[in-house]
Amino acid sequence: MKKIILFTSMLGLVFLSVFAAAKYKPHVYPPDCVGCADCVVECPKRGKAIALVRGKAVINVEECIGCMKCVSVCSYGAVR
Ligand code: SF4
Ligand code: SF4
Repeated sequence: MKKIILFTSMLGLVFLSVFAAAKYKPHVYPPDCVGCADCVVECPKRGKAIALVRGKAVINVEECIGCMKCVSVCSYGAVR
C-alpha cells in the first residue's frame, strides 16, 4: 500500500511540473533590452506575441505560447 501511495504522489509531482513548465511565459526586463529585435524575428508568432514598443521588446502574454525561443536568442539576457 505504501508503494502505491508513493508512486501516486510521484506521478502527481511529475504532472504538476510538466503543467507548470508548459504554462510559463517569459518576461522582458526593459533596462536590459537594447531593442535589437532578434526575439521578434525568431518568435514563431511574429508580431503577435512579441514586438518592439518605443525601442523595447514587449510580450503579449495572451498570444505567447511559451516556446522560449526569445529567451534563447536574446544575447543580453533581457528575456527571462
Ligand atoms: S533580443 Fe533581447 S535585447 Fe534584443 S529586442 Fe529582444 S529582448 Fe531586447
Ligand atoms: S516564448 Fe515563444 S511565443 Fe512567446 S514571445 Fe517568446 S518566442 Fe514568442
